[in-house]
Amino acid sequence: MFFNKKFLSVISLLIFLFPVDVISSFQLPVSRDENLAMGNPSKANKSPDNYLIVKNQYTLSYNNSKGEANWVSWHLNSSWKGEAKRCNCFNTDFSLPEHFYKVKKADYTKSGFDRGHLCPSDDRDASEEDNEATFLMSNMIPQSPHLNRITWVALEEYCRKLIQEGDELYIVAGGYGSGGIGSNNNLTYKISQHINVPSHCWKIILVLPEGNNDIHRINKSTKIIAVDMPNNKSVNEFKWTHYLVSIDEIEKITGYDFLNVLPAELQAQLESKIDNITAE
Ligand code: MN
Ligand code: MN
Repeated sequence: MFFNKKFLSVISLLIFLFPVDVISSFQLPVSRDENLAMGNPSKANKSPDNYLIVKNQYTLSYNNSKGEANWVSWHLNSSWKGEAKRCNCFNTDFSLPEHFYKVKKADYTKSGFDRGHLCPSDDRDASEEDNEATFLMSNMIPQSPHLNRITWVALEEYCRKLIQEGDELYIVAGGYGSGGIGSNNNLTYKISQHINVPSHCWKIILVLPEGNNDIHRINKSTKIIAVDMPNNKSVNEFKWTHYLVSIDEIEKITGYDFLNVLPAELQAQLESKIDNITAE
């Protein structure tokens, strides 16, 4: 699906010609890896409410009825980082199919909710083009300012701290439910008649030491971070670590199947645990 046959046969030939230990001894540079390498959690395809969109910077499932993504999936390591300035260039995603409602920047104006990035601006600043891609409205969900600017961003910063320490991450994030409380104090289900306000925002992060052949390095001790945060004004009464849950819990609520490229037994081990994270 993501690799053509020719590519796969070349790789197979390389694996045949060089034993694995010889391949892994090559010092390869830090690389950008496939944003959807851990699997397509909702089997997104061409359905309008589960519509697969692959960009260079991230992959997402778009939901036309909700006016937002079901989830966005991206790889993060130092190769995605650079000196590009935050563009603040919120823009309609005109690449959506013709008959889809295309959310405008102004749809969020005075709603009491922030345009909350799923794939963060700061995770994609190697080039202006990369950074601009994160400002497409298809990468936004309505988030209460208390979530977006305090608790959610704290976890984003923790992720970037991990990559500075030599890790690479696979991240998936989205919202579920309907009804959040933003700065206007009202329980709000929709903004501008088109955009669902999620009641909760979740994120799943798989952490590996930087390296190659990522899927084959995952084992039952691989560090997992999963959170489920309410989209309201009191979310910041606790640090982000208060909201740690198992992946199983998020699978149950959303109906998605995360890490579905991994063998069932390994998935079960990784998805049922809650790793102890000490941040700050
Ligand atoms: Mn890698
Ligand atoms: Mn799973």
